[in-house]
Amino acid sequence: MTLPDHHTSDLPVLRLRRGKEESVDRFHPWIFSGALQLPLPESLEEGIIVKIETFDGRVIGVGHYQIGSIAVRILDFSDREINDDFYRERLGHALKLRQALGLARPDNDAYRLVHGEGDFLSGLVVDIYGPTAVVQAHSPGMHYAREIIARQLVALEGLDVRNVYYKSETTLPYKARLDPQNDYLIGGFETAVATENGLKFNIDWLRGQKTGFFVDQRDNRSLLEHYARGRRVLNMFCYTGGFSVYAMRGGAELVHSVDSSEKAITLTDANIRLNFPEDTRHKSFAQDAFKFLDQTEQGAYDLIVLDPPAFAKHRSALRNALRGYQRLNFRAMERIAPGGILFTFSCSQAVSREQFRLAVFSAAAQSGRKIRILHQLTQPADHPVNIYHPEGEYLKGLILYVE
Ligand code: SAH
Repeated sequence: MTLPDHHTSDLPVLRLRRGKEESVDRFHPWIFSGALQLPLPESLEEGIIVKIETFDGRVIGVGHYQIGSIAVRILDFSDREINDDFYRERLGHALKLRQALGLARPDNDAYRLVHGEGDFLSGLVVDIYGPTAVVQAHSPGMHYAREIIARQLVALEGLDVRNVYYKSETTLPYKARLDPQNDYLIGGFETAVATENGLKFNIDWLRGQKTGFFVDQRDNRSLLEHYARGRRVLNMFCYTGGFSVYAMRGGAELVHSVDSSEKAITLTDANIRLNFPEDTRHKSFAQDAFKFLDQTEQGAYDLIVLDPPAFAKHRSALRNALRGYQRLNFRAMERIAPGGILFTFSCSQAVSREQFRLAVFSAAAQSGRKIRILHQLTQPADHPVNIYHPEGEYLKGLILYVE
């Protein structure tokens, strides 16, 4: 179902409690349910577009309503209409930024076009893989807007997208009972191969995690290529083998990839074959990362990548997550050869940069080795952080030199 376009005068109005407009006046795009005056209008349905007014009746925005702790995701801080033009304009701005970043080129056609609040489209993620856009809705409102978004993506000038795949089974709030489907909204399967910095990757948006690939590690993979020459590389939590493929091109002496999922290992092997068909430097292991490190001889690797899944999905899991990062980093620091380089990451939004650094510091102290920070890493520019929405910063990494 696609909700009809509304004139803003027809929209249900949600009024804020006294003084609750402060964060909206500072352009924060979320309104929490506790900020709303009760009772809520009867016409309210999940995913609908609403108008927001202050206690005194000043209109301060329009957005998508949803049931839950985040009650409204603001789309615009005025009372403009949310229609095809709105999406055309926002998607156009998103593309303009990626063009300015030089990401859409013949040797690089995998990138993030829309990064939610970072592109002033709260609840929406769009990744581009060559002629295919993979769209993820994180809110009921974006779920209802999916057809408009798909149409606008295909029509967008300067973007050569012919197929739009919608993948929201795991990202929509499940209580919303929206019957999310994973399906092509426009076009169909054309090619699974996309190119990142001249390297080819098989992207499995049908069965893979997220939209099929982690485009957010592109810049960090390039850095790793730079450090790989002559090194024995261990890529832990390899998933599609992104870091491994770059290490191969960078001239690594050998590359070992580890992931506990057999499916991930199959993807990694396929991507290595796609780029380096006859090369014998690569080996993969379907094993638990912690066990693998325990069985690793001291000094067996000179470059180790640790890019685990989010250990803390929520704040409640924070303490255990930090202990997990410490344990993992300690094991790698213990095993890495003298003069080794460690790439270590956390993609948990709930873990702050400082907390992650502290966990890595604790691991270093425990290992007793001399360790220096060479680079402090983050997410790439196609995952921009809206300055009014600091929650959008999630990827943290350090490159360490271990003597
Ligand atoms: N580095 C990857 C992304 C990693 S995603 C890239 O650049 O694309 C996290 C991966 O960790 C997933 O593939 C998951 O299967 C794997 N994983 C989760 N727990 C694991 C464990 N205990 N040991 C090894 N791999 C694990």
